[in-house]
Amino acid sequence: MSICTRFAPSPTGYLHVGGARTALFSYLFAKKNQGKFLLRIEDTDLERSAPESVQAILDGMEWLGLGADQEPIFQTSRFDIYKKYIQQLLDQGKAYKCYCTKERLEKLREDQISKKQKARYDGCCRGKVFGELDSANVPYVVRFKNPLEGEVIFKDLVLGEISVSNKELDDLIIARTDGSPTYNFTVVIDDAEMAITHVVRGNDHVNNTPRQINLYQAFGFSVPEFAHVPMILGGDGKRLSKRHGAVSVMQYQEDGYLPQALLNYLVRLGWSHGDEEIFSLEQMVEYFSLEKINKSAAAFNTEKLQWLNQHYIKTLPVEEIAISLSWQYKNLNINTEAEGAPTLEAVIQVFKERCKTLREMAGASRFWFEEISAYDPLAWDKFMTSEAKLVLERVYQELSALSKAEWSVERLGAMMKSLVAELGLKFPQVAQPIRIAVTGNTISPSVDVTLDLLGKERSIKRIQDAILKL
Ligand code: GLU
Repeated sequence: MSICTRFAPSPTGYLHVGGARTALFSYLFAKKNQGKFLLRIEDTDLERSAPESVQAILDGMEWLGLGADQEPIFQTSRFDIYKKYIQQLLDQGKAYKCYCTKERLEKLREDQISKKQKARYDGCCRGKVFGELDSANVPYVVRFKNPLEGEVIFKDLVLGEISVSNKELDDLIIARTDGSPTYNFTVVIDDAEMAITHVVRGNDHVNNTPRQINLYQAFGFSVPEFAHVPMILGGDGKRLSKRHGAVSVMQYQEDGYLPQALLNYLVRLGWSHGDEEIFSLEQMVEYFSLEKINKSAAAFNTEKLQWLNQHYIKTLPVEEIAISLSWQYKNLNINTEAEGAPTLEAVIQVFKERCKTLREMAGASRFWFEEISAYDPLAWDKFMTSEAKLVLERVYQELSALSKAEWSVERLGAMMKSLVAELGLKFPQVAQPIRIAVTGNTISPSVDVTLDLLGKERSIKRIQDAILKL
């Protein structure tokens, strides 16, 4: 049997971290077993689904590198197929038309609740023949004839054996009055037609599974295996939501996280492989198993994610980081292609030990790519004294005397040291005015490196501008 899994989001918002983790587990299981991973967009709820949300999901999956093995399937393009299957159940007497009015159903519900019973459909229309109503165009829903006896038993690959008595399940609506199919029905038809062997999804769906299994059986479809993945909670133990901060995958991109770090974080959230913490996507595929997923919910911990992000910034090949950093610059409208600008690889080498996020790195390195828009006023007042003016004038002379070939971290460092000695000053009295002149503030990397990457022309020009302002 060749393994096939899917991720089936409803496009009613962004791709959130819970969905992304479900997608990751589903992807890993397929890849681990040389199977296929498919994407299905569950967009039948026309009021809540939006094209922007579809795009947000596709973007999120692409950013995480969780590519599907086929083009995504959209449920809205499959209404004819669902209709055909609904008709099939009606023809076989496995489903029936229900003409119960809203008022009747409401009253039934109220009565049941007042008797402390579970609210459920009472099967009023099951087995009835409605000659006149059928020909009079009275609206109806279609209900599935759930078996009346017996139990649905399945072995969930995460939660273990689950059994539910059919007495607990009422006759599910499979088509609404406008003929549109309902969620539990479309999922079964699609999973069967897509030949899904393992349904990996959030455990908020575990109560739907017995109903779905009854539908599989009514059609004679083979029933897939199920793995219901626990929820992700916020630090306060409540279900993770916007209240806890960023929950959209793309917000993490915006905030400067590497996809490698987020994936690594997500895989460890409720799954383990010994004591190991660091996993590349290839290693996740190699070690993954559904049985190692925890049964209980896991809490999101932003500090750990930050720690992983720093780990990956420090250790990934610079070319790989450059891909994500380049996106940050674009997002911040920083043009990195101007003449004389340093390479992103050079910037990463300088900053990789000191930045927690790529957004921070892009912001802190801005001065190499753009003119200074303003000097930090506190830094200016503190360091840009008349003595600083004399220092900068000497620096200007020294830098002008260096040829472009001589422009190197070593030469620039030596120049500063000899100026410190010559002028009888402390190192910061030389370094800080240069820093402020060329970066606008006092927080750049070491001055020799800062000047080296800025290049001769731009360094000299900025020193001159500062002198003129002093
Ligand atoms: N569309 C459902 C959701 O977004 C998932 C359905 C499933 O995985 O079976 O929660």
